[in-house]
Amino acid sequence: MTRSAHWYPAYIGIGSNLQGPGRQVQAAADLLGEQDGLRVEATSSLYRSTAFGGIEQPDFVNAVAGVLTTLTPLELLAQLKVIENRQGREGDEVRWGPRVIDLDLLVYSGQTIDEPTLTVPHPGIGERNFVLLPLGEIAPDLVVPGLGRVASIPVNMDEPSISRIA
Ligand code: ADP
Ligand code: MG
Repeated sequence: MTRSAHWYPAYIGIGSNLQGPGRQVQAAADLLGEQDGLRVEATSSLYRSTAFGGIEQPDFVNAVAGVLTTLTPLELLAQLKVIENRQGREGDEVRWGPRVIDLDLLVYSGQTIDEPTLTVPHPGIGERNFVLLPLGEIAPDLVVPGLGRVASIPVNMDEPSISRIA
């Protein structure tokens, strides 16, 4: 028996500021592509930005991947955590603190989800240039529920500096 598979579009934010951040982000994108029920359709450039949150720590490298998936949002979140663990994330970091890898589900189809463990669209989308810029690169016309077209969401002028690195 085959389960009829519908492929839903989703966007995943990837970030790291430890242990070779650019390499970690690339490794996470590669691991995403190896998941069953998930195809990576697009990946943004890498962006380097100063960390915010008041903790002195290395710069972050961020990217966004556009995927198609047969996984439900909660199944996808679980897979993101599997990848984080495979890349050695301990799971006990300080909020806003340094991390070897962070995978966030930014957008899942046109859905709005408000579960104890999953908020979609991810609340950081409109607030963080390290999400907005790479997302705008691969999906400027994407409509984010509650925020509108990605290209129409204003970038944050008072956020720490960010630059495209590759
Ligand atoms: P953050 O990404 O905010 O720095 P974490 O990566 O430690 O923090 O995530 C903490 C928890 O946030 C996760 O265990 C997950 O259950 C929850 N969470 C809620 N919404 C999302 C989402 N859209 N993507 C990823 N994690 C989410
Ligand atoms: Mg996270």
